[in-house]
Amino acid sequence: MSADAAVEAAARLLDRARHAVALTGAGVSTESGLPDFRSPGGLWAGVDPMAVASLSAFQRAPQAFYDFYRRRLALLRDARPNPAHLALARLEAAGRLQAVITQNVDGLHQAAGSRRVLELHGSLHRAACATCGARRPIAELEAALDRGALPVCPACGGLLRPDVVLFEELLPADVYAEAEALCRRADVLLVVGSSLQVTPAASLPEVTLEAGGRLIIVNQEPTPLDHAALVLRGRAGTILPPLADRLLAAT
Ligand code: NAD
Repeated sequence: MSADAAVEAAARLLDRARHAVALTGAGVSTESGLPDFRSPGGLWAGVDPMAVASLSAFQRAPQAFYDFYRRRLALLRDARPNPAHLALARLEAAGRLQAVITQNVDGLHQAAGSRRVLELHGSLHRAACATCGARRPIAELEAALDRGALPVCPACGGLLRPDVVLFEELLPADVYAEAEALCRRADVLLVVGSSLQVTPAASLPEVTLEAGGRLIIVNQEPTPLDHAALVLRGRAGTILPPLADRLLAAT
């Protein structure tokens, strides 16, 4: 199928959908200048994830953990939504998409105007105290690190950390349950920029398929579920805007 025919077929599927939902991964944000994890040059290139982004790394070697997150926070400062985020927000505003479930922690869907965003892995825009759980603005954590100090909770003196899900931690159960319910109800799940290698998020498309829904996958590389999906191969920022244009022109 040509690229154009694939976009047309996806627009037709979404046009017939009553409850379409999107699931996004790091690939939806690479065109905003945020590296993904697993691509060449991604965040894991030359880095052992368990040494910098796991709960035990935070507990054993907080400095390496903070150095890694400081780099990510610096990248985030200049990041703006790209045409892929904006297309998803347009689809929701037009009533064609019920929600965006995201594995990302960058807040770019909300910045683009998406309203119902389920953050499976938390948010880099918040800090949380590792001891008492108090939520604090991420700026407090950054300011401490910029001074060369460890970020400390003003309430209890515990260490502040970004309010994201680390390796060795569970996803927030309430958010995951809501995401699962959305995927079960979805007649179309539009998966954008996820390698579909990280569970449990990667099992959400299976929930849609088992309940009889269809999958559309937008990715520049193959994924393990391509055989069960309508695949649009290429960059999300190139594919999603014309897809939204076609769908909304048909409205
Ligand atoms: P991943 O790195 O495993 O996969 C990204 C996928 O997107 C790859 O298959 C890649 O080929 C594809 N891709 C990259 N750029 C693309 C583009 N422009 N258009 C289309 N496809 C593109 O990421 P994942 O599946 O989201 O893995 C999950 C983990 O990544 C989560 O733990 C998440 O928290 C984390 N993560 C989030 C961010 C962020 O918030 N922006 C950044 C890096 C990693």
